[in-house]
Amino acid sequence: MTKTLNNSNYYSNEQDWATQSKSWFWKFEQCEAEALAELKGVWRPPQNLTPLLVGNYLHSYFESLEAHQQFIEAHKKELYRYGNPEKGIKQEFKKADNMIHTLEADSNFEQLYQGDKEVIVTGELFGVKWRGKIDCLNLDRHLFLDLKTVDDIHKKHWSESDHQYVSFAESRGYDMQMAVYQELIKQTFGVECEPLIIAVSKQDVPDKGVFSVPDSLMAAQLDLIEVDQPHIEAVKHGTEKPARCEHCEYCRSTKTLNDVIDIDEIPFY
Ligand SMILES: [Zn+2]
Repeated sequence: MTKTLNNSNYYSNEQDWATQSKSWFWKFEQCEAEALAELKGVWRPPQNLTPLLVGNYLHSYFESLEAHQQFIEAHKKELYRYGNPEKGIKQEFKKADNMIHTLEADSNFEQLYQGDKEVIVTGELFGVKWRGKIDCLNLDRHLFLDLKTVDDIHKKHWSESDHQYVSFAESRGYDMQMAVYQELIKQTFGVECEPLIIAVSKQDVPDKGVFSVPDSLMAAQLDLIEVDQPHIEAVKHGTEKPARCEHCEYCRSTKTLNDVIDIDEIPFY
């Protein structure tokens, strides 16, 4: 029996096994072998955690003053130079403060970003339990909003699956995230809500924008979930083998020289 989902167990490994989420589904879509190893706790991707912390720093600010204070208290080591508040806050978080001010100074942002913050939603997609956390949910206005931090809103990103450049939003699967959230909100509250993404950039002079997600993109992402999910579930439960992408850090670190590839067939991205 699944334990009740709450703020203290939302990001737990137990929940990662018991329910699906966009971030985990997305990981499996990128590389099943790496995702499974990470889920099992035998592999930790050597990632730079600062961008994640910058995002959480900004999110906590717009959640509530209390949440922001708690976040700062819990991350003194990462936020301050030498982990010491007397030495001043690190450059990245000065930038985050700048991003916060950029949004705060915009009266349209204040009007838009009204609603309940960090709302947990659950539901079932094609027979599998899913969970999600909504940055800002306004059931009265049939709207939910997600805050995103990004290096540059207008940078192009190569999409291997689409064979073309896409925006940061599609490159990070925000169309999938919004499609899932829309469905989970409907199942949790019985209300159909439209998503809006509010993005703010990490440039010295932060850029910002508010973006909607076309229904056609969201429908395509739900179709993708329906098609890919049975195999991903089977991989999670050990009845099917995970596919290796052969170029992520996990695959590189566990590779053996097997196949000989013609030089004009070497995949590039
Ligand atoms: Zn891989």
